Amino acid sequence: MTVPTVYIVGAGLSGMALAESLSRPERGKPVRIVLLEGRPSPGGRVSSYRESHTGQWADNGQHLFMDVYSSMLSFLDRLGTRNRVVFPTPFSIELLDEKNQSHRFSLDPKLGKIGGLLGVLSFSGLSLGSRISMLKAGARMSSGGLKEESVDHLDARTFLLQCGATKESIDRFWELLVVSATNLPSSDVSAALLLRILRETLLGSGGPSLIGWSIVSHRDLVIDPALALFERRGVDVRLKSAVGRICLEGNQVTSIVAGENKLELSPNDHLVLAMPPWSLEKVFPIEMMQGELCQNIMRLSFSSGIVSIHLWFSRPLALPAIGGFMNGPVHWVFNKDLMARPERSTEISPDGASYLDISYEDGRNRLEGTFLSLTISGVDAKDERSEEEWLQSALEAVRRFSGQPVLPDLLHHRVIRERMSTPILGPGQSLYRPSNQTGVSNMWLCGDATDTGLPATMEGAVRSAHLLGDLLFPKLSRGEVRS
Ligand SMILES: Cc1cc2nc3c(=O)[nH]c(=O)nc-3n(C[C@H](O)[C@H](O)[C@H](O)COP(=O)(O)OP(=O)(O)OC[C@H]3O[C@@H](n4cnc5c(N)ncnc54)[C@H](O)[C@@H]3O)c2cc1C
Repeated sequence: MTVPTVYIVGAGLSGMALAESLSRPERGKPVRIVLLEGRPSPGGRVSSYRESHTGQWADNGQHLFMDVYSSMLSFLDRLGTRNRVVFPTPFSIELLDEKNQSHRFSLDPKLGKIGGLLGVLSFSGLSLGSRISMLKAGARMSSGGLKEESVDHLDARTFLLQCGATKESIDRFWELLVVSATNLPSSDVSAALLLRILRETLLGSGGPSLIGWSIVSHRDLVIDPALALFERRGVDVRLKSAVGRICLEGNQVTSIVAGENKLELSPNDHLVLAMPPWSLEKVFPIEMMQGELCQNIMRLSFSSGIVSIHLWFSRPLALPAIGGFMNGPVHWVFNKDLMARPERSTEISPDGASYLDISYEDGRNRLEGTFLSLTISGVDAKDERSEEEWLQSALEAVRRFSGQPVLPDLLHHRVIRERMSTPILGPGQSLYRPSNQTGVSNMWLCGDATDTGLPATMEGAVRSAHLLGDLLFPKLSRGEVRS
């Protein structure tokens, strides 16, 4: 008898979470897991690189967490790194308006729904009429009678207006929230998706949920801990093994080509494609190209980008941990120094050292500098601004937020444009999101584009993997050795 093998293609969050789920010792059934990743390192859209100038590990972009990210946080629990994500309470951010006036938006989840109410009412960035319109829109969106499916044909902006939100509140508040949560402007994203997000977060039955972040790089939070866990559990991780071809016989995958190798699948083996739509369409079996599933995946292959601009300055800058722009060309400025040193940082284990020790040598002295990261979400594929233009926008944003017309010396910068950050989930697109099943008996899908109902996020990716793990595991059975 042979132990069944599950080949997982793609070592992004979903592929890694699935490998973790299927290899749990308590599952009590032997399974061989082979994780095939095309790139030299796992992580996918959650990646880190060694910053040559400072020697630090820096990320491809700031990733924020919500405390309702139950699947993602349980994955981190399994990796032993859950305590490297912090959720400062009460949550408070400063938002800067067009006149460089700063407005604080605070939420105290301990107060339940009242906390949300007070947060909106005390937000000085909007007229009183707009604040009240936000509460009315919130009440309308909370109503159980309003079904998500019934608004999927609408874009979020139209839907917000229909719910009574004023144009001012959309332009100066909702827009920032929508683009940050969905990576699309409100006029392009499905209203159903916005409704789902708000119901799971701000409008949750227990009151608004908390926003948090990792105090270490993606590498220290997920990638290295996952690799260590896979080694302990005997998961076979093969990097630089891009899968190029999938061969079918009837309704069964019989082989795949990974890198230079052809891997044969026995009838009890399974193949999971844990990759985004734009990668899936390149590897789908030729026989399935005209089928509905493949056509739907192609409809989801358009992506929205995120630009991150990392800046290292020679001196500290007085900026809050997170600052947002109510109507700016840049959406967020993250003060990585402060983010790495929240009060709860005492919980961090010694090996989870903060990645933000930004002291550096200037040839003579050891100096303390500042590491900032600025984010622009929902960047259109056709936007061809140059690296220099992104940099200048970022510097202008820092000048505005810090109130310092002359900034400390910029020691180093890096502009990272992730063109394919998330699939575009516009009005009506949810119909095309595939389930975990493909119709081929031993081929499965997971990843942030599958039909979890969530936006394309870390939580969506891991939840999709956990759903598939529970679906697939009972189907794994030993088979006869093929002669
Ligand atoms: C800059 C940025 C900021 C973000 N911010 C947030 C945030 O604040 N909060 C949040 O929740 N989410 C955020 N996201 C989204 C989140 O990162 C993704 O939703 C999630 O990581 C997707 O994981 P995945 O496993 O579905 O896909 P991926 O991470 O894309 O993984 C797919 C993997 O498959 C591999 N692959 C592709 N083709 C092949 C092949 N033929 N053979 C072998 N391997 C292959 C790829 O190399 C990749 O490693 C952000 C994304 C970006 C880019």
